[in-house]
Amino acid sequence: MRQSPELNRVQPKISPCSWRAMALTIASVCVLVVMVFVGASMPVNAAPGIPTTTVTPSQTPVANGIIIPTPSPTPTVEPPAELPPPFVPSGMYSWAKPVTYLDDACAYLKMRWDPANSRPGTIVVPVMYHRIRPRAGMNGIPEAKFQAELAAAHELGYETVTAEQVADFLENNAPIPPRSMMLIVDDRRAGIIERYFMPLLEKYDWTVTSAWIIANSDDIPNLWERMEALNDSGRVDVQSHGLRHTYITGTTPMKRIREELFGPIPIHEAHFGYRPVAFVWPGGNYTRPAVRVAREAGYRIGFTIHPNGPSMFNWIPLGRQERTMNDPLMMLPRYWGGRNLADSFGDAAEMGDESYANALASYELEAAYYHAHCDGDLP
Ligand SMILES: [Zn+2]
Repeated sequence: MRQSPELNRVQPKISPCSWRAMALTIASVCVLVVMVFVGASMPVNAAPGIPTTTVTPSQTPVANGIIIPTPSPTPTVEPPAELPPPFVPSGMYSWAKPVTYLDDACAYLKMRWDPANSRPGTIVVPVMYHRIRPRAGMNGIPEAKFQAELAAAHELGYETVTAEQVADFLENNAPIPPRSMMLIVDDRRAGIIERYFMPLLEKYDWTVTSAWIIANSDDIPNLWERMEALNDSGRVDVQSHGLRHTYITGTTPMKRIREELFGPIPIHEAHFGYRPVAFVWPGGNYTRPAVRVAREAGYRIGFTIHPNGPSMFNWIPLGRQERTMNDPLMMLPRYWGGRNLADSFGDAAEMGDESYANALASYELEAAYYHAHCDGDLP
């Protein structure tokens, strides 16, 4: 039968003749689709007919551009022997390199994908503060700039977390807001917290962390009462900034290092009712022996003054010097209040978003790894 030209047009009514033409068209389209699919999934230099192992993630793109993985009980992805190295977001600072700290890949993946935990790409941005002053031109951050920084964080959806929440998050991926930050006031600055932080903490329903130098607090009248009242307010999380703010260097005697790290604990417990979980390195100084003593004393996290970027679960951005300490959780980076902080909040949020998208895109691969090497399947 010869095809009439009309068959190529849309027919108002379907005749038996056009049914056959439609079937032919559908069949040839199917053949084409199969050919295209086979061609696309075949390595360029593979001969036709030879079976190949093919990575075909079943991902569903959604309207806002974020890829949602479709979990399947039997992974179709070839299980990798090892997990890929930590993801590096495009906004990563040149001097920093992400470092992982969990050795058990199965335990890590289980905590990473547990729907009750923090979602991948959740960031913690710790910020270091010292002086805040009413006006520009004085030694410290002008109050207006400080207020603008916190307003920028609020605008970006940041929420504050305490040191204990950060330790739980970094160790176990415990749930915290996807954009979390820690505002940390170093040294002994009850007045800065009372005057500049408290009004904004009330406004945004946030907390601040006081990195407290605990020795000689008796020397200042009413200082303990004020600190205890701040602690009782529920808005101030007090952590350790050393016994005497000793700069720990290679020449600091071990006895002094131990005093600096162990000394604050009983005093802290007596005044605030809990043991500090974070140690903020005085002057940003640390050594490998001091890091080991910090662990021995029971600190779970430590903070430096290196503004390397946000921290994520099993992902800490470290410079060369911090990497040599071999304990990423004791080397957590901090941004500096007053130094382009609004931009840093934006950079960190973007790195988190990018890491989230990357995590979703890697889900099938990680699920295949888990299925092959661990007990059971990822959720
Ligand atoms: Zn200090």
